[in-house]
Amino acid sequence: MSLPSTIAVDGPAASGKSTVGALLAHTLGYVYFDTGVMYRAVTWAALQRELPISGESAITLLSETLRIEVIRPTRDDGRQYTVLADGADVTWDLRQPQVDLHVSPVSAYPGVRRALVAQQRRIAQQGRIVMVGRDIGTVVLPEAELKVYLDAVVDERAYRRYLEVVQRRAGELPQGVPAEDPEYVEIRETMVRRDRIDSSRQVAPLRPAQDAVIIDTTEMTIQQVLERILELVRDGEKGECGRGV
Ligand code: C5P
Repeated sequence: MSLPSTIAVDGPAASGKSTVGALLAHTLGYVYFDTGVMYRAVTWAALQRELPISGESAITLLSETLRIEVIRPTRDDGRQYTVLADGADVTWDLRQPQVDLHVSPVSAYPGVRRALVAQQRRIAQQGRIVMVGRDIGTVVLPEAELKVYLDAVVDERAYRRYLEVVQRRAGELPQGVPAEDPEYVEIRETMVRRDRIDSSRQVAPLRPAQDAVIIDTTEMTIQQVLERILELVRDGEKGECGRGV
């Protein structure tokens, strides 16, 4: 059986999607595309323009007109890719706490999703792609040949994100107990809120597709998750809803 040409990877924040998705694409020689950057780019641009996040029509218009490009890394600073918004490099700006805070309400607007999903489908048409997000298996690419849904308990996900943030800033691991660090507490709170909005919105809520293989990554290393997905790729295997690994 041939390898799946389109692979959808969905799941909540910091479930390992981006890291594993990028490694998977690299291993297979596929294109990697993280759809989260598009929602983040619209949110960043809205904040830059001082548009109220509650202004659905202005933000929808922005999503229809903003030129978002994801290209090979233009700098060697730990980035997986470079994101341009109307030509400006916004790669790291998209990771700011302000964007984390506002991206879910922006992503819940149907017009924003319509505009970005259309672009995502065009990008996926080339095939040999690993596309990562929240609704790839359910809405963007319901025909994807392999669908994986990564999950992990919220404390573990918040801890992973916290490590990423601290390491990026200081280049070293944090000291002490994270649960007592206000920065960890804030990251966890923002994440819980974001997951709640993403899972309960009317349009394209976060949930596994019927035919997705669900992998709980809480106790797994990145390498183990990658190997599990590569097994699925090689077997051409498809899962049943709710089937845990
Ligand atoms: O994956 P990431 O955390 O960068 O995604 C940021 C936000 O973008 C998510 O919390 C969600 O609101 C939105 N998103 C989405 N659909 C996708 C990808 C991301 O709604 N396919």
